[in-house]
Amino acid sequence: MGCSFDCVYCYIHGSKYGEHIPSALGVKINAPEILYRQLKNQARKRDYGIIALGSATDPYLPQEEDYKITQELLKIIYRFHFPLNILTKSTLILRDSDLLKKIDESAIIPLDLKSRLKHGVIIGFSFSTVNEKVASIFESNAPSPWKRLETMQNLKDEGFMVGAVLMPILPFISDSPDQLDIMIKAVKEHGGEFVLVGGLTLYGEGPSDCKSRYYHILEKYFPEIITPTKTLFKFRSYPSMKYQQKIYKMVSDIANKYRIRSRISLE
Ligand code: SF4
Repeated sequence: MGCSFDCVYCYIHGSKYGEHIPSALGVKINAPEILYRQLKNQARKRDYGIIALGSATDPYLPQEEDYKITQELLKIIYRFHFPLNILTKSTLILRDSDLLKKIDESAIIPLDLKSRLKHGVIIGFSFSTVNEKVASIFESNAPSPWKRLETMQNLKDEGFMVGAVLMPILPFISDSPDQLDIMIKAVKEHGGEFVLVGGLTLYGEGPSDCKSRYYHILEKYFPEIITPTKTLFKFRSYPSMKYQQKIYKMVSDIANKYRIRSRISLE
């Protein structure tokens, strides 16, 4: 619970997802035991769905090197042959590539996807930018974007389906056609098969909520965009639909240019 990468823009601070997280990192040491029970039950009913690993925390935080909770979860997922969609910013995923390969090759794909999905594992790496300097401001505890790209390439070379989740795109920082082009080109050049995109959400008004933290960092490093950013969000937690549609259209056009899918279309 919680995430030691602690990205400035992380939506869990101030959202309902962060209501019960401890101030320090919490480790759910009984997660394998609970997952075992749940998957055993699901498998008995032959009720297979794709398991998503890594949403409100990263499954490969540095603490995972010692705790190996994610590794235990993967062993259970393999044992019951569930397919997996894993999202990370970390290079540590390479440690588990043998286990992930076993899941990839043996997962039972849900019937409605079977004719279209050839992989039991889909691996996504998340990026808000590939600019090292910008990343060092907003996500300083996570492995650098270029290390993520190298890791993506390694996993692609091992035969995995890999891609990028460009989320959140940072308004007036990484949302220009040029910046999006650089990101999508880099993903393509490192074996990425898809890019998914999502805008920034800024929740909460408290001092440790992500909206306050984000504006604080803008004031310090990007004072020139604080006013347009606040205008974009006004009283909302997300940018206008018009802005979001503009980003989706740009990403879709650039993805077409580089012949990379802008959704996880299945093959
Ligand atoms: S890696 Fe993801 S979950 Fe962790 S702090 Fe960053 S945005 Fe939040």
